[in-house]
Amino acid sequence: MAYDDSNIFARILRGEIPCDKVFEDDHVLAFRDINPQAPVHVLVIPKGPYRSWTEFSATASDGEIAALVRAVGTVAADLGVVEQGYRVLSNIGADGGQEVPHLHLHLFGGRRLGRMIAAD
Ligand code: AMP
Repeated sequence: MAYDDSNIFARILRGEIPCDKVFEDDHVLAFRDINPQAPVHVLVIPKGPYRSWTEFSATASDGEIAALVRAVGTVAADLGVVEQGYRVLSNIGADGGQEVPHLHLHLFGGRRLGRMIAAD
């Protein structure tokens, strides 16, 4: 499926919509989720036009992949959740519950996060 560059994260990356940025480098942007589910709830996204983990892992450069992984560690440290722990989660596709069709990693922390997934 083609990447839809009208999605909200593409618009944030183009500067058309503001975000509460916590980290940026050449390949990655991280910003606070607009509807936080925990005291710390940040979205870490590649700047490239990748819809899903499947596309990112198959076609992104090693540099882009390393940058995304490293950014998660940097953000967790910068936001002070390393000692108490945190959760990284990515929703992919329909069964994964993905709402925005631009790959993103959720980083949650700042409280006990409970079960990994809720019963339906
Ligand atoms: P997902 O269901 O994994 O696709 O998650 C999409 C996330 O994007 C949700 O947690 C939303 O609250 C968040 N979100 C949607 N629009 C924005 C926005 N403009 N700025 C920050 N987060 C957003």
